Amino acid sequence: ATPTALMVGTGRGAQLGILIKGPEVLESTRRVDTVVLDKTGTVTTGTMTLLATHTAPGVTAAEALRLAGALEHSSEHPVARAVAAGAAAEAGPLPVPEDFANVAGLGVQGVVEGHAVLVGRERLLGEWEIHLPAELKRAKDAAEEAGRTAVAVAWDGEARAVLEVADAVKDTSAEAIRRLRDLGLTPILLTGDNKAVAASVAAEVGIAPEDVIAEVMPEDKVEVVERLQAEGRSVAMVGDGVNDAAALARADLGLAMGTGTDAAIEAGDLTLVRGDLRAAADAIRLSRRTLGTIR
Ligand code: ADP
Ligand code: MG
Repeated sequence: ATPTALMVGTGRGAQLGILIKGPEVLESTRRVDTVVLDKTGTVTTGTMTLLATHTAPGVTAAEALRLAGALEHSSEHPVARAVAAGAAAEAGPLPVPEDFANVAGLGVQGVVEGHAVLVGRERLLGEWEIHLPAELKRAKDAAEEAGRTAVAVAWDGEARAVLEVADAVKDTSAEAIRRLRDLGLTPILLTGDNKAVAASVAAEVGIAPEDVIAEVMPEDKVEVVERLQAEGRSVAMVGDGVNDAAALARADLGLAMGTGTDAAIEAGDLTLVRGDLRAAADAIRLSRRTLGTIR
């Protein structure tokens, strides 16, 4: 590859809304045959909204939202933003937590108005031996079957509410995935979210059910990339979150959403400036063409 031809490729990339870290990046795209796509913020908009609040007997929605919203206000996670915004709208001004901790891939925990509060996946509550009562479990299962993310809320040792949040698939995602397939690439959906939500998003954008990897902890995303590489695949990873950074760095080609976190952008080889997944296909086509002309 001559440096001049590669530089021409990177200039064209900028026109397409693709920032390339260095000309050598184009080389790594040549062998890519698999594209791992993060779900939230990459395939979906990442802007979630609170859709419903289910409570245990004797608990009001306002109460649950006040405590959950107070904690989530301190988190940047798309789920947290939805809960905090919904809570502020429905329960008024939120108290400031006395204590707060983010539990990556699981949720948040802390102290609000003297109550020990947990908000997140059922697994987060499980770590404290807290279990969802039957009626909340049913609400959770129904929400997930409908393709929504269910967030459990517990305080003082008991599960007391389930919140339903959801975001939408970007209207460019299905076309982007078609274009990736046209380039001979296999798309794989990778997410920390639950299996039912992941399956519903996959169906909507045209990813095969067997190519969905869900309920993956943030630190395990990089292992998924390594496992695919160990199978002999050359892997591109597309992501936007802090929890995607290690996988972006490990992939043969890391593509960061320009609308995502700084951590993802720093870890990636390429940035899709507009956060449009179609640019991922453009980037791969461009580099193949650039390298093709110089061979
Ligand atoms: P993704 O891989 O889709 O970007 P994450 O790994 O960041 O998702 O999160 C996985 C799941 O953990 C979320 O779908 C949500 O159920 C739960 N979760 C993470 N952070 C929070 C939070 N702040 N509040 C509630 N739930 C959370
Ligand atoms: Mg994400």
